[in-house]
Amino acid sequence: MNFNTGDSVAFVGWRGMVGSVLMKRMLEENDFEGITPVFFTTSNVGGEAPTFDGVLSPSTLKDAYDIDELRKHKIIVTAQGGSYTEAVHSKLRESGWDGLWIDAASTLRMNDDAIIVLDPINRHVIDQGLENGIKDFVGGNCTVSCLLMGLGGLFKNGLVEWTTSMTYQAASGGGARHMREVLKQFRDLGNNVSAELDDPASAILDIDRKVLEQQRSGELDTTQFGVPLSGSLIPWIDSDLGNGQSREEWKADVETNKILGLNGDDRVIMDGLCVRIATMRSHSQALTIKLTKDLPVEEIERIIAEDNPWAKVIPNTREDSMVDLTPVAASGSLEIPVGRIRKLAMGPEYISAFTVGDQLLWGAAEPIRRMLQIAIGKL
Ligand code: NAP
Repeated sequence: MNFNTGDSVAFVGWRGMVGSVLMKRMLEENDFEGITPVFFTTSNVGGEAPTFDGVLSPSTLKDAYDIDELRKHKIIVTAQGGSYTEAVHSKLRESGWDGLWIDAASTLRMNDDAIIVLDPINRHVIDQGLENGIKDFVGGNCTVSCLLMGLGGLFKNGLVEWTTSMTYQAASGGGARHMREVLKQFRDLGNNVSAELDDPASAILDIDRKVLEQQRSGELDTTQFGVPLSGSLIPWIDSDLGNGQSREEWKADVETNKILGLNGDDRVIMDGLCVRIATMRSHSQALTIKLTKDLPVEEIERIIAEDNPWAKVIPNTREDSMVDLTPVAASGSLEIPVGRIRKLAMGPEYISAFTVGDQLLWGAAEPIRRMLQIAIGKL
């Protein structure tokens, strides 16, 4: 696109959870250099715009629903959410605006004229899209993006015939309020048995009974998740498609193939079960992969590690897995650890793998940040 130094970029949703991580990463990478950011709001028009050291922008917040105001910018970056995209995107396009729309929400992802961005995996698809005049670029589902960043080498080399992904997804996938709810539930459960926990002579089954009673009592705050998550899990994420599959499970196959640009017989079959657990901000996945050929484990590890600078193979030992292959290890890091790689008893083409990724980074903000850099010709 014809972007000149100093041209403006509109930012909507910059103070939400994804937006805050996006701002932090942009500042770390000096991404504001060469652009004039203009900050929008859905809740505080005329309020004070954020100030960042060395970044010049108008001092007041613009109305994120004002189409004429949005139209002034060649690029709009939004991490505001699906309902915002629904309310604004088509009106903007109908008004004749033909700038680039870069979005963290899922609303436009599967549109034929939108590209799912994950450039270390599909830079060729993005470049071709830009060349062909595509204007909508959307971040992928967090679980899919983290999976592909970890195991992209196997997919890109046509080595995956099919895979199942059994997920362990963090509270942050739901948003900030979901993270708080999990912690509050843990706090309330802990407080209720605090005296017993401090008494080494107390019976663990009595503690367990009290915890379970409280979980079943309806007293815990479950406003966000609907049921207690702390000390439990929820084996369903997103809406019910009516065929036994959740929307989150459906996304794995359709988004993976779209990101990779695979069609017809080239498509990789992906299916599995998506489960919410009470972790904070990193999603994990246990995978069974049917390879298209029998390869030694060392070769598989080499292909994974060489695919991109962020995929990190963790040796398949107890100690390495316990230390480096957990949400605690992966949170806050751009590295995507991939471990537990071994041949399965089903045959030489069947392997297991386990991967973890910070879903606010590669799962949300990072692909958006990098797409903006690509759009303005800096990456
Ligand atoms: P969020 O934290 O709820 O933020 C969305 C908006 O809520 C903000 O931009 C802000 O808009 C408003 N808001 C209201 N009260 C706020 C407060 N106290 N603090 C901060 N913002 C507040 O949403 P999100 O989790 O970042 O998700 C944004 C989009 O990214 C969604 O479409 C989501 O599906 C997608 N996404 C999320 C994740 C994830 O891990 N959460 C991963 C991938 C994609 P105003 O400034 O206009 O008021």
